[in-house]
Amino acid sequence: MVTLARHHIYVLRQADKEEWEAKARTGDEIARRCISAVKNFARGLLNGELTLSGCCERPFLSSDVPQAFLVLIPVKYDPNHVTVQVWGMCEECSKHDNQWLVDQGPKREGLAPTPPRSGQTSH
Ligand SMILES: [Zn+2]
Repeated sequence: MVTLARHHIYVLRQADKEEWEAKARTGDEIARRCISAVKNFARGLLNGELTLSGCCERPFLSSDVPQAFLVLIPVKYDPNHVTVQVWGMCEECSKHDNQWLVDQGPKREGLAPTPPRSGQTSH
């Protein structure tokens, strides 16, 4: 998990899907939000909404299954204004590690500056 100025960013990979679902079943609020965001994304894709890979803007086909997702949850979570954001990552992009995905995804949207990398934080 990476915290930018306004969002916590979680990387969900297909390989970790069962782990996240198990967490959600135990009532883990973050896991629940992440999984519902991913399900919304999948629903949009199935409905034929134009959906681009979060990193490279390659369009997904409705038959594509993104191999990884970035889920952004606002630090100040307001249950009345659901602003959880989700990016799907195509197969190529998801080959990179989590830090790369975080760097490439939301930064392009102009959401927040690059987060400090581990080892370079001042505290
Ligand atoms: Zn991509």
